[in-house]
Amino acid sequence: MTRRATFAALGAGALLRAQEKLPLQEYQPKSMLNLPEAKVPRARFPVIDIHAHLSWGDSKMSGAETLQPLATAGELLPVMDRKNIRTLVNLTGGYGKALEEAVRLFPPGRFLNFVEPCWARAAAPDYPRFQSDQIERAHRAGARGVKVLKTLGLYLRENTTTGPLVKIDDPRFDPMWEAAGALRIPVAIHSSDPRAFFLATDRFNERFEELNAHPDWSFHGRDFPSNEQLQQARLRVIARHPRTRFLCLHVADSEDLAQVSTWMDKHPNMWVEIGARIGELGRQPRAARRFFDRYQDRICFGTDAVPKGTETPQQIFCDELYEIYYRFLETEDEYFDYAPWPVPPQGRWRIYGLGLPESLLKKVYHDNAARLLGL
Ligand SMILES: [Zn+2]
Repeated sequence: MTRRATFAALGAGALLRAQEKLPLQEYQPKSMLNLPEAKVPRARFPVIDIHAHLSWGDSKMSGAETLQPLATAGELLPVMDRKNIRTLVNLTGGYGKALEEAVRLFPPGRFLNFVEPCWARAAAPDYPRFQSDQIERAHRAGARGVKVLKTLGLYLRENTTTGPLVKIDDPRFDPMWEAAGALRIPVAIHSSDPRAFFLATDRFNERFEELNAHPDWSFHGRDFPSNEQLQQARLRVIARHPRTRFLCLHVADSEDLAQVSTWMDKHPNMWVEIGARIGELGRQPRAARRFFDRYQDRICFGTDAVPKGTETPQQIFCDELYEIYYRFLETEDEYFDYAPWPVPPQGRWRIYGLGLPESLLKKVYHDNAARLLGL
């Protein structure tokens, strides 16, 4: 048997002949590095996960006050107990009757809920007043913050789903931002998205596979604003409402920590959260470490965890998810996966642990969020 024939027989279809093309989605390279692997089953300190989705509110902007729960408290608590999670914050608690239902299903003690604006009414002449009143009612019903999805800036249009996009800094929302500040509850706000989502989905796009699998996640072209325009609009809101604290989700703009730093220096009411961005922070571990040092009093722990679905493997609520976050924050492990998935789902890279000291861990895991939430 020739050498070539032996290899062909051994391969049984798995080995590729030289120069044969391998489809990108089938490529699953295994790292050959031999490195220590720390297992961190429990966080060093009790955790407040300030960014989870335990329910969906009015995600279709229909005006319906109905809640779609994604899990029961009973299903969540065993994972929380194992992972040392004291409090899980359900950001998408809807509004009105839906919010009341969220507070009933996920009661204070181990859970907290945020209220969402009623986008369906945003075109009504009395909306500014209605919306600020609604925040006050929600606060009385148990809401501990306001959550603004990227709906504002990227989906909400003048006639809800048609017409021009409504801008993040549109003055009709000013009374709402002010109401949150007056009640001393934070606004958790997600604007924009990874920068690659605003670029063409082509061979230069570092998130090609993610966007190719989810073409509707792309904000390239059409009438979408740029990442920069969205960020600037949000910053104008933050500047205009200095007594309202804005928790900018996903590290605000995780791919440019130098930029985020200049914003946080300028706006003491700007905070950040790290959910679904350890893939970004962990591939720039030295810049990230400096960022954590400098803003150690305004960074909150969050995961963007969702108890249902497999669309976003980096966000599935489970033990493994938290173990990866803890490993990232607590250890100096190198080159490990940021999601429990065979192929890195957001982009083909791996991450490095920050090895934060105990004093920082305590703030990031718990104390900062407790201060922000007034606990
Ligand atoms: Zn989220």
